[in-house]
Amino acid sequence: MQTLVWFRNDLRIHDNPALHYALQDSVNYKSSRVSGIYILCGEYVKSHPMGKRKLWFIRESLRELQQTLAQCGIALEFLWVAKAADIPASIIDYCQRFNFERLTCNAEYPLDELNRDRATKHACEQADIEFKRYHDRCLVPPGALHTQQGDTYKVFTPFSKAWKRLVSETSLQVYPAPQAQPKNRQKFSANPEALEKCFASFDPDDMSEFWQPGEQAALERLSEFCREDIHDYNKLRDFPAVEGTSGLSPYLAVGALSPKQCLLAASLASDEHWSAAEGVSVWVNELIWREFYMHIAAAFPQVSRYKPMQDYTDNVQWLNDEQTYAAWCRGETGVPIVDAAMVQLNTTGWMHNRLRMITAMFLSKNLGVDWRRGEHYFMQQLIDADFCANNGGWQWSASTGTDAAPYFRIMNPITQSERYDPGGEFIRSQLPQFHNTDKKSLHTGEGVTSYPKPLVDVKISRKQAIERFAQAKETETTA
Ligand SMILES: Cc1cc2nc3c(=O)[nH]c(=O)nc-3n(C[C@H](O)[C@H](O)[C@H](O)COP(=O)(O)OP(=O)(O)OC[C@H]3O[C@@H](n4cnc5c(N)ncnc54)[C@H](O)[C@@H]3O)c2cc1C
Repeated sequence: MQTLVWFRNDLRIHDNPALHYALQDSVNYKSSRVSGIYILCGEYVKSHPMGKRKLWFIRESLRELQQTLAQCGIALEFLWVAKAADIPASIIDYCQRFNFERLTCNAEYPLDELNRDRATKHACEQADIEFKRYHDRCLVPPGALHTQQGDTYKVFTPFSKAWKRLVSETSLQVYPAPQAQPKNRQKFSANPEALEKCFASFDPDDMSEFWQPGEQAALERLSEFCREDIHDYNKLRDFPAVEGTSGLSPYLAVGALSPKQCLLAASLASDEHWSAAEGVSVWVNELIWREFYMHIAAAFPQVSRYKPMQDYTDNVQWLNDEQTYAAWCRGETGVPIVDAAMVQLNTTGWMHNRLRMITAMFLSKNLGVDWRRGEHYFMQQLIDADFCANNGGWQWSASTGTDAAPYFRIMNPITQSERYDPGGEFIRSQLPQFHNTDKKSLHTGEGVTSYPKPLVDVKISRKQAIERFAQAKETETTA
């Protein structure tokens, strides 16, 4: 049996079910062959969007993957496809040209990806090619958890309880990395030119100053975090000046690491069950948020169509002032914690979770800009851009999502700054103007030379945001 493994957001050899089962079945057949393929689609890159930082991270992760697969005698080829609708036909054509009788892959849950896989499955059936899809992005695949009424959970806490119950009852094992294939089969060496060619037109941004992509780096980071930092995670995770979180999101986003590997490493760090040690269980809770948003995306296609989960919020009258939006993007709003956060994003491609909440709420509430513009900007800039987590985070912050922050509970960025960056280490690390600023002006920026005046008054704009949402709610009830 000749099997083609279609790599997408699963760029690793360990704990990769699509790769594992392709190889496992192949040992039963004498003349079997397993190869890999990665498809880069021009339309996807533009419309989703995939930013230059993330493209760099993907390319470099693929470079390593191509080498590790080659060491196992498995080729990884690259295909560039202009239009998303042409992906099924292109992959069938490839299979037929190189005599692949089976295609395996790991599932993805946003709407376009689900539709792409449905179309590919159908095309495979027509061409008499076996299509097999596995689940690796979530420990509990979408559709496996239901409320007592049989619905998808829309609230996080009961979802997380059901998730924990199911995962605790399951024996978790990592799929081993492939063994080297016998020498007398095909020999492959990595072909980096094809990789370069595939990505060249997108001109990815080199982020090697900040990030080391690839599965090896992911495993090292995971083991270091679980060895040293996980037990203090509950105490330190909200302070952006401290390295209190794992920094694993870019790896999880491209699948250089699986959530199962994360949970098992966290379990090892805990003497008892992962739910017993506080730091460990709080960290696992974040992995569950990640899965919650994937389940939401899979069950509610409207989130993939630029729609809010709460319909009434479609009536919010956004101000959408272009200059305000541009100032937010550049980190020039005149609110130091917001600006420092945006500088961190624009420089490193990453932003601390507390700051993602603060900046997203500030844009969508105080500045009155449609949350979808911020969601789009984050997708372009984040090295860990992940549709489900990003959409979930934005809809939470903008109070348009399921189980989101209520619209009248708006974080005051200055109070947040005083609480989570009390000494201003984070602000100073990103904004050079603040190096010698005293504590009083640190959080407001008042009187700091060459620092912009605030775009809005935080208290007045908060009140106006609440009015905009209340009005939208009223429109809904009177309609
Ligand atoms: C507006 C907004 C946008 C976001 N966009 C993204 C995004 O594009 N990609 C992304 O991976 N995360 C996103 N998040 C979630 C979160 O901010 C990041 O996952 C986290 O900051 C990554 O840092 P870390 O790896 O050190 O996380 P840790 O705190 O170490 O958490 C471990 C892992 O759990 C997952 N995780 C943690 N918090 C969340 C969360 N709130 N929602 C979903 N998953 C979570 C991530 O995969 C993370 O790597 C967003 C949050 C908000 C509020």
